[in-house]
Amino acid sequence: MAALPQPPSILTFEEARHVVEGHAAQVQPQIKEKVELFASIGRVLAEPIAADRDYPPFRRAMRDGYALRAADLTNLPVTLEVIGEIKAGAEPAALPREVAAGQAAAIMTGAPAPDGADAVVMVEYTSLSGQRVTVTRAVGSGDNIVAAGSEARKGQVLLHHVALAASVGLQSVSVFRRPEVAILSTGDEIVEIGERPGPHQIRNSNSYSLAAQVQDAGGVPKMLGIARDEAVPLRRLIEQGLKHDLLLLTGGVSMGRYDLVEQVLAELGAEFFFTGAQIQPGRPVVFGRVQERYFFGLPGNPISTMVTFELFARPLLEALAGMAARELSFVHARLKSEIKTKTGLRRFLPGLLSGEFEQAEVELAGWHGSGDVAAMARSNCYIVIPPDRERIAAGEWVAILMR
Ligand code: AMP
Ligand code: MG
Repeated sequence: MAALPQPPSILTFEEARHVVEGHAAQVQPQIKEKVELFASIGRVLAEPIAADRDYPPFRRAMRDGYALRAADLTNLPVTLEVIGEIKAGAEPAALPREVAAGQAAAIMTGAPAPDGADAVVMVEYTSLSGQRVTVTRAVGSGDNIVAAGSEARKGQVLLHHVALAASVGLQSVSVFRRPEVAILSTGDEIVEIGERPGPHQIRNSNSYSLAAQVQDAGGVPKMLGIARDEAVPLRRLIEQGLKHDLLLLTGGVSMGRYDLVEQVLAELGAEFFFTGAQIQPGRPVVFGRVQERYFFGLPGNPISTMVTFELFARPLLEALAGMAARELSFVHARLKSEIKTKTGLRRFLPGLLSGEFEQAEVELAGWHGSGDVAAMARSNCYIVIPPDRERIAAGEWVAILMR
């Protein structure tokens, strides 16, 4: 076999993840396009949104109640004269005159506080009788009023959120073009889902699970179908895949005689950043680049494919989609029943997180190896087992990766 990447580089999980993150940090931003605000949901904003005026634009009441002078409430209960009512959306001309000492104005949540008043007392602590209101609880100056401009000043750059875009009056926004991700399954035993598989054949599920993950990470899947385990047709399809923003291959990266993916990529001049990671499932995962196009060779076992996409391909795809980098972090839950495993590899085992509020607990989703799609479908997280652990007792805290 010619032109295999030399030497093969098998990294620890952390090393491999950092290699991908390093490349993701250098990925060029995509082309921008303008879309209507509603169509921008789920897209990545390409430009910051600035406030078009102060937020809130006026002193806004946060509660239904009475706008008054806090200093009037030193001796309780106290009875004040009600000089008017202020609804949300009230025009300035409709506001009562300045609230003086001994006076109050009825006010609704979201309405502008009148001059003179420095606090709102909640309606629950008052009783109204005719034009007079009796207040039974004190408030501090500023209570229940949001100062004008306290959320954002005009011109200030706001965070990226559709609600912010809407609140500053943008009807369309600039977003990044979604990256196109070529998905190519390989294997002589794989048939398309519309075909009737022979007893020795397997339906192509990986292309579909990857398409779902690609969409979720902000990409547009481009289905290239199935490549036979033969160098010439495989090479033709890989060349086609390298025309897209990212190429994902599944299968054909193990040590078998017909695992040709790395060989064909090497013939195309690929640079390999790693050709394996000390993880299970997914050990033979490959990451590299042909000229400026990145590819991942993901192992063909369906769970390996899904896990290695999450761990390695997702951060690069998110970077191509214009998203800010996020570090991978695990959360913790108590293990419900003992896990026995072998040392040497970091394991990502399909898990079932259950329990309410502070009682989260997790157990294995009862899987039978990297091909057990049913266990994967039952699971809602991965239990992460460090490479030096052989046995983890029930009741121990374990790391989990949510999905
Ligand atoms: P490979 O990585 O090519 O050695 O494949 C490992 C295992 O995954 C084999 O049992 C394959 O039949 C299975 N497999 C490979 N590709 C797919 C696919 N596209 N869909 C479902 N299973 C697959
Ligand atoms: Mg194969």
